[in-house]
Amino acid sequence: MKNIYGQTFLELENYFESIMEKKYKAVQVYEWLYQKKVTNIDDFSNIRKDLRERLKLDFSTSMISLKKRQVAPLTEKYLFALEDGECVESVLMRHDYGISVCISTQVGCNMGCAFCESGRLKKVRNLKSHEMVEQILLIEKLSLKRINSVVLMGIGEPLDNFDEVVKFINIINHAKGLAIGARHITVSTCGLVPKIKALSSLNLQVNLAISLHAPFDSLRNRLMPVNKMYSLTELLACLREYIEVTHRRVTIEYVMLNMVNDTQECALELAKILRGMNVYVNLIPYNETNHIEFKKSSKNRIMAFYDLLKKEHINVTIRKEFGSSISAACGQLRSKEV
Ligand code: SAH
Repeated sequence: MKNIYGQTFLELENYFESIMEKKYKAVQVYEWLYQKKVTNIDDFSNIRKDLRERLKLDFSTSMISLKKRQVAPLTEKYLFALEDGECVESVLMRHDYGISVCISTQVGCNMGCAFCESGRLKKVRNLKSHEMVEQILLIEKLSLKRINSVVLMGIGEPLDNFDEVVKFINIINHAKGLAIGARHITVSTCGLVPKIKALSSLNLQVNLAISLHAPFDSLRNRLMPVNKMYSLTELLACLREYIEVTHRRVTIEYVMLNMVNDTQECALELAKILRGMNVYVNLIPYNETNHIEFKKSSKNRIMAFYDLLKKEHINVTIRKEFGSSISAACGQLRSKEV
């Protein structure tokens, strides 16, 4: 049976038409699910009883469930159990400008980045769109907060689960649904070039973030095996094209690994390869994990790297650290459980 939280608005309209009902019923269903947040089809009171019965036959409304929640002043970390018993995690972050959540897109990840906890655990399966939607609904319910923005930076490589991720974006973006603006949704990728092209052709207006992490192929090959498939030259060419087609600024993520990619040489090369592109660099303090030997760069080294990029006229910010005290970072909670 299909899960109702995985239905795009268009799919629901088509469904109603296919059973000889008016398609505006999709509006009513979306309002119950996403505005009134009613989870029981029996309570959809403006929909006829016989039609509610039909809906119950055709759609499940079951949800993922909370396994663990950890709360710190600016961060909340959620471990969710999926119906098949697998787990994923999500993080809520409070910013001055509102609440953002970081959502997982896969159980584990096959990209194998050397510094990343999620990759160490390998991909078990893709998430379905409804499992991503439910992460948001449950966080809103449990935190009593309205979510302003969504980043796909939890466990998994979003573009390795392209169709379900696009469906998920459609669902949460829809005006009759959660109405999270496309410009408040960020897709982060390790650099799957053909999928970045596919994304740009959909014209979704979402933000794109690229996990670059190294300005030399030799180093990037070591840190991110995906670079052996799509080299820096290919990736940067694809980004130039993406920027030209979408007219959107792209975020370059750069995780700061002590004495690995945080040298002066790396900063200068990074500035060189990004020169003239409409990008901004986000320096990410590394969250150390027990299983992996990389260390985080010191504040001084991060500042020196930042200063060098500034001097080279590259837009750069340093990401605020969230949640390391509650192991809210990057696959660490799930990794403790499996
Ligand atoms: N697969 C996607 C999205 C998930 S990872 C991607 O690669 O972009 C989200 C971001 O967190 C990526 O930039 C990733 O490189 C980074 N990351 C992974 N492990 C980390 C850690 N321990 N500390 C800090 N950032 C980490």
